[in-house]
Amino acid sequence: MYDPKSMKAEEFISDEEIRETLDYAEKNKDNLELIDSIIEKAKLRKGLSHREASVLLACENEEKIQEVYDLAEQIKKDFYGNRIVMFAPLYLSNYCVNGCLYCPYHLKNKHIPRKKLTQEEIKNEVIALQDMGHKRLAIEAGEDPINNPIEYILECINTIYSIKHKNGAIRRVNVNIAATTVENYRKLHEAGIGTYILFQETYHKESYERLHPTGPKHNYAYHTEAMDRAMEGGIDDVGLGVLFGLELYKYEFAGLLMHAEHLEAVHGVGPHTISVPRVKHADDIDPDEFDNGISDDTFAKICACIRVAVPYTGMIISTRESKAVREKVIRLGVSQISGGSKTSVGGYYEPEPEEESSEQFDVSDKRTLDEVVRWLMEIGYIPSFCTACYREGRTGDRFMSLCKSGQIQNCCHPNALMTLKEYLVDYASPETRAIGEKLIEKELDNIPKEKVRQIAKEYLESIEKDGKRDFRF
Ligand code: SF4
Ligand code: SF4
Repeated sequence: MYDPKSMKAEEFISDEEIRETLDYAEKNKDNLELIDSIIEKAKLRKGLSHREASVLLACENEEKIQEVYDLAEQIKKDFYGNRIVMFAPLYLSNYCVNGCLYCPYHLKNKHIPRKKLTQEEIKNEVIALQDMGHKRLAIEAGEDPINNPIEYILECINTIYSIKHKNGAIRRVNVNIAATTVENYRKLHEAGIGTYILFQETYHKESYERLHPTGPKHNYAYHTEAMDRAMEGGIDDVGLGVLFGLELYKYEFAGLLMHAEHLEAVHGVGPHTISVPRVKHADDIDPDEFDNGISDDTFAKICACIRVAVPYTGMIISTRESKAVREKVIRLGVSQISGGSKTSVGGYYEPEPEEESSEQFDVSDKRTLDEVVRWLMEIGYIPSFCTACYREGRTGDRFMSLCKSGQIQNCCHPNALMTLKEYLVDYASPETRAIGEKLIEKELDNIPKEKVRQIAKEYLESIEKDGKRDFRF
């Protein structure tokens, strides 16, 4: 039954194959010879199969786990250097017709205020986000054909791209909306979106149907096959994710990698990103009601195993996680984080009064973007506001082939420094700016090509002296 090339959800995410994989992993979790050979294969940086990666995840030998962590850290350094890309979510509407048991926006929650931003409100939110320094947004909306039809989403995207306030601009809009038709994906593609992100929530079909008892999202196959329709509609970059805590994490992990293998087998390009959210407390939602919660250590192990299994795929973590957890997993492979986020509809322009909260989940990391940027630099990272690939048309397989040839490194590092410089000049506090200027000075030396280094220096000067913006390699 299992066939990664099949277009049917139950064949490319075969329950039987996942169960056999978990059995195989359990039987081999102490097989040190096999584990060593898998680690050796991972060192080639060409990725691992779901079976191989599942053995690493099952392994409990501390020495071997440490080897996987070390390798994840090394792969992270080789592919992403010390750069972390920044983004912010923007919730457009929390009207939703679905019944997801883990989300406060579910239809039956009658006490959460329902809100939908008007274009005027979006303008205010985007100006507030630009004034923080953000360049990359992920827009979010519940599924509601009457309140949030595709025309509304498209109008919002146009509004967001059109706002140029002072030196601000949102240069990439990623979209996280419900599974939809090829025709609607085509419209999103034509509107110039970056990545289309859709969390699977859980790959376990029975649990999926139980957790989504009502609404269009109940349909497991339609949801699971969404990325294929998105790619058919012309969207090159898609982002996968599961909500850890709903089902057994080893099951989800195998399913997630099988989904990535399916995209590679059918479309020739794997997922652009993988997100790793965990169930959090929210209005009407108690995470303790879900028995599959995972510890911070298991969470870190999952991140490390994803990093070695799919080295070319970006990994995203949100402000659901605390500063301490974020610090740990950034080292092990996470390449994108949000900062200064609001998970309510609106709230950037004017904070919501507590009694009217429309939050989707409680934020653990409540620091401002300036604080997150400063913290990243203090622990040795370069916060990057880069959106260059998407704007240079380096998406899908073009992005992946550049990435696989190692060429992307010649763009990412100078782009990170230039976008950080823009941030420092336009938005940073004096303290953050002082740390950032020193960092840029030091990191310029790490641009390997002399010519690129020279051009980057000129661009950096021009940002400072001529007020020019938006340079990119
Ligand atoms: S997870 Fe998405 S689809 Fe489900 S209730 Fe929340 S907003 Fe609606
Ligand atoms: S150059 Fe491309 S891959 Fe590198 S940070 Fe910018 S957008 Fe990402």
